[in-house]
Amino acid sequence: MTSILLFGLLAAAANVLGGVVLVKAGAHHWGERSLKYLVALGAGFMLAAIFIEILPVTIDIWTQTANGQPSAEAVLPAMTLLLAGYLAIQFFEHTLAPHFHFGAETHPESFMRPSAAYTAVGGLWIHTFFDGVSIASAFLVNFKVGILVFIAILLHKMPEGFTVASIMLAAGRSTRAALTATAAIGAATLAGVIAIGILNTRMSNSVGYALPFSAGVTLYVAASDLIPEVNYKEEGNPKVSIVVFGGVALFYLLHKLIEG
Ligand SMILES: [Zn+2]
Ligand SMILES: [Zn+2]
Repeated sequence: MTSILLFGLLAAAANVLGGVVLVKAGAHHWGERSLKYLVALGAGFMLAAIFIEILPVTIDIWTQTANGQPSAEAVLPAMTLLLAGYLAIQFFEHTLAPHFHFGAETHPESFMRPSAAYTAVGGLWIHTFFDGVSIASAFLVNFKVGILVFIAILLHKMPEGFTVASIMLAAGRSTRAALTATAAIGAATLAGVIAIGILNTRMSNSVGYALPFSAGVTLYVAASDLIPEVNYKEEGNPKVSIVVFGGVALFYLLHKLIEG
């Protein structure tokens, strides 16, 4: 559990680092440009991790619970949790919050009401909690799944911290408030890791539930938060989009290199 906590801490630190990059470099400098490539790399890597690592493992867990008989019925609860995780983020990031997207916040007019910024950060807080849940439950399966899911999550952590700090500044808050908000996002990730650590000691089959639900959250983040940010480009530059495929390739490479 101590090592899982360490990976949680690293992911949380990347959140804070993203916030510091924004505050120090500003939204319109090199920081934003290079983070866009990181968003694309992260999106590709996350999608591959979900479909090639987490879903096969989840199906395996639920098939074993059904006495090794693979059937649509046996995996139905897991698939329902996957959908629920996806919809939960649609609800918290985009139904409750009036304005949220990844990347630099360039619409300060959306934050005329101060509550708009806080609901956006609040939605992201819930998503980052499940980033922590993903990391911890993947490590509870085995080290290989753990490290691959950790990398998948880590790749979008800096852009995430950058996003939070950017929302706070666009809403007219101080740099100090921006950094506090990024620290809160990092803390949510750590809270997710700790929650799974505690849950797992009380409920032996907790991973079977936590893994598909948090995979649904990750699917939302990759396909519905990060990919739109990749596709929103100026001057029709396809370079950022190509990096998505690079993320998938990187996943396959590491998948081959890391021993199970
Ligand atoms: Zn905006
Ligand atoms: Zn996240």
